[in-house]
Amino acid sequence: MLDIKVQKTTAPKQKPAADDPLKFGTIYTDHMFLMDFNSEKGWHDARIVPYGDIMLSPAAVVLHYGQEMFEGLKAYKGPDGTPLLFRPGKNIERSHMTAERLCIPPVPEDVFLTALKELIKIDADWIPDAPATSLYVRPFMFGTDAKLGVDVSDSYLFVIILSPSGPYYPEGLNPIKIWTEDQYVRSIKGGLGHTKAGANYAASMKAQQEAHANGYSQVLWLDGATHSVIEEVGSMNIFFKIGGKVITRDLDGSILPGVTRDSVIALCKDWGVPVVEGSLTIEEVYEASQNGTLEEVFGTGTAAVISPVGELRWGDKNIMIGGGEIGEFTQKLYDTLTGIQLGMLPDPHGWVMKVE
Ligand SMILES: *Cc1c(COP(=O)(O)O)cnc(C)c1O
Repeated sequence: MLDIKVQKTTAPKQKPAADDPLKFGTIYTDHMFLMDFNSEKGWHDARIVPYGDIMLSPAAVVLHYGQEMFEGLKAYKGPDGTPLLFRPGKNIERSHMTAERLCIPPVPEDVFLTALKELIKIDADWIPDAPATSLYVRPFMFGTDAKLGVDVSDSYLFVIILSPSGPYYPEGLNPIKIWTEDQYVRSIKGGLGHTKAGANYAASMKAQQEAHANGYSQVLWLDGATHSVIEEVGSMNIFFKIGGKVITRDLDGSILPGVTRDSVIALCKDWGVPVVEGSLTIEEVYEASQNGTLEEVFGTGTAAVISPVGELRWGDKNIMIGGGEIGEFTQKLYDTLTGIQLGMLPDPHGWVMKVE
């Protein structure tokens, strides 16, 4: 069992009022979890301390060479008030894959899970319970060695912070507009695209900024080699319902294996809806929109859960989907997934874990 030293805050912060419209990821709870790694002691000194700034050498590896990774999951308040986590084991498993690629020592599964649970228990009163709100949980780790020669860090810091959050997009469940990117490249097979590394986001910001400037809220990435096959959206995987079939990119090494993606595929299978993991080109989506077989498009990710897409801009073409309304299938997925996450619907796959 992990021994966590706990230092509670003596100055608890004001919690947001129940009717306060929460934004995504802008306020933080009273505490955070920290743990250090060095080659002599391994992961050690697990502690929960008041939320606050951290000290770092200006020469820290992370600041110069970006050796950093993160995870994202959500805690909800269950019907009896017990905090619930959605498939935390999948996030921990993915963190091991990311850590391996970035030469970061993995945090053992039981240590990771205990850290999550203990921190959430201490700040459980911060879990909001208005519709479409949750406590966003952000674990991350990075190299802290003070050295400017390019080299793998020998020391690391693992941190977990918690943020009471509202909807990821101000649009809520209204369809979002997405910009198809055909110049910049976010990732390519052999790179970091399949990992949750901060560096992927650094590579994507320029396109994101240009999409915003054009009035679009997210970027749709195409494959780096041919700029034709659809990969994923900035922070979501993407699904297309065409002619009764649900299609998403296969895990080819350049997209992030989303927990929400995996859950949506499982629900499709439960419901007997044909689901294809493969390659779909933007050209094919355009053709489907022209011949009337493009039914629905939605993004999937922990932050937004399910996000309907109402418009795809591709070069000079505007692909319109669903006449500005959320599709029936998209709505059903959203209702089912959030129902399971909140502990309101049966959980046949055992996805929900009580934090107690
Ligand atoms: C986190 C993330 C997703 C969504 O993954 P979930 O596990 O469903 O939250 C999709 N794409 C990228 C690039 C991401 O970073």
